[in-house]
Amino acid sequence: MPEGDSVWRAGRRLNRGLREHLIVRSDFRVSRHATADLTGLRVRGTETHGKHLFTRFDDDLSLHTHLRMDGEWTVLGVGKRLPARLADNIRVLLETDGGQLAVALRMPVVELMRTSDEVRITDLLGPDPLRHDWDATEAVRRLGADPARALVAALLDQRLLAGLGNLWVNELLFVRGHSPWTPACEVDLTRLVAMAVRMLRQSITVRGNGQVTTGDPRAGHEHWVYGRSGQPCRRCGTAVRHVGEIPGDAERRATWWCPSCQPGPGPDDHRRPGQR
Ligand SMILES: [Zn+2]
Repeated sequence: MPEGDSVWRAGRRLNRGLREHLIVRSDFRVSRHATADLTGLRVRGTETHGKHLFTRFDDDLSLHTHLRMDGEWTVLGVGKRLPARLADNIRVLLETDGGQLAVALRMPVVELMRTSDEVRITDLLGPDPLRHDWDATEAVRRLGADPARALVAALLDQRLLAGLGNLWVNELLFVRGHSPWTPACEVDLTRLVAMAVRMLRQSITVRGNGQVTTGDPRAGHEHWVYGRSGQPCRRCGTAVRHVGEIPGDAERRATWWCPSCQPGPGPDDHRRPGQR
């Protein structure tokens, strides 16, 4: 699941393969930039903010990408080829003078822009725990600014804290013992944010898939509640509950929780006035 930590890893892969190299071939297979050609430009590096990647080149040019649900950046070493079955998934291909090939697969957002215009996007994002300019106090302030808002919705709102996706938010709320619909004002947000930071940072420091919250990396054992609808809670045995996503409603994303370990309001107990 592409969340802030997977995006950070993608940025690191791009930096290792491309930074300070010249582009010798580029191919944009998206209609908007079908004629773009970055040949001859030097890659200055890739920055990430939340779930956004900005790969910067000479001449104030940036390639903005966003993985959304299943986009992916892969970097192939010298002489390596992408399996033919993935050819239809290619959206961007960048080859460097070092022989590396960076390929964006199934990428839903591919946008060439001025580097100086990145702020149009980053100004809308909250602090990111994986960036050097992380500001925990500011994240806590933003999360608490709407005290009645359900924690699950506040934590997923990238304008408040950038980088947490559905997996981390569900697991974080289990670990802290809060019902996902607890109003933000009712919990210790400083401790909640500190735990979120610890989880994300731990994820980027382990090898392989870092998105394991239980400490058990075996398939099917990685998570406390995420994706475990109806299965017994690993801590108390109560069946894990799940509510599905309501398309177009930012306040209602797919959510999993243990009603026993995470006491508090249920999904229908927390509605703002006027909400159906
Ligand atoms: Zn439980």
